Amino acid sequence: MEPFISQNESVLFLDGWLKDFPGLSAGFTTKCGGASSGEFESMNAGYHVGDNPGLVKKNREAIANLAGFALEDIVGAEQTHGTNIVKAGPHLKGRGAASYSDSVKDTDGFYTNEKGILLSLCFADCVPLYFFSPDSGLVGIAHAGWKGTVDGIGPKMVEAWKAEGVSPSGIFAAIGPSICKNCYIVDDRVIGFAEKRLEHVEKKPYNQISVGQYSLDLRAMNKILLEEAGIPARNIAITGLCSSCGEGNFYSHRRDRGKTGRMLGFIGWKEGSSR
Ligand SMILES: [Zn+2]
Repeated sequence: MEPFISQNESVLFLDGWLKDFPGLSAGFTTKCGGASSGEFESMNAGYHVGDNPGLVKKNREAIANLAGFALEDIVGAEQTHGTNIVKAGPHLKGRGAASYSDSVKDTDGFYTNEKGILLSLCFADCVPLYFFSPDSGLVGIAHAGWKGTVDGIGPKMVEAWKAEGVSPSGIFAAIGPSICKNCYIVDDRVIGFAEKRLEHVEKKPYNQISVGQYSLDLRAMNKILLEEAGIPARNIAITGLCSSCGEGNFYSHRRDRGKTGRMLGFIGWKEGSSR
């Protein structure tokens, strides 16, 4: 069953989690229903891609409202395909919300247990990883392209939560809309890194399709690594939605040859909610 359910043209919500925890907001945007035009038409959430910043701000305001938050509740990052994860407290509220210049530097993962903060990251093919621990109230999100995946940003989030006293067996994860294995063809160099990381894994999430060309299932690879980190398989929801093929409601960095917008992945506890 698809975990990301459309409630309006602009946002897909992680329905299963939200049903049990109404104070929680977690989802992923589409490219529909926004103010941007041209290659950014229309719900572009990325300031860093050359779109009109005023329109991006307007889009983010609309997204925040649909998520049950205000624009200034958003925390955003300057993402670098690294594995730095930041615990976001009230001091970071609003960073990267209304402009790119004050976004949290060199960060590809956020988590918090504070209310009224909407953790957010930008995506266009890379894999959004969502984390939730009902017992501790921790929520988190990470950006996993091939590099972040191979370098283990998913397991790194689990490690950070273990240090907070959270048992991996009580963590829920969701793997969001991103490029599918049929659309994600990589070369020897990338597959070399994946191969090395998965040496001990029997069922590989990739296969060769021609000389020097491989189809890599980044979502499946993330699932393998999250299970390895201790999250039970039954706790991991995985999307069937591809940013590149699919219904065409997403921006795709590959398909659009780099000139495109960004979707926003987000998670947070609404202000005043009783977890
Ligand atoms: Zn696809």
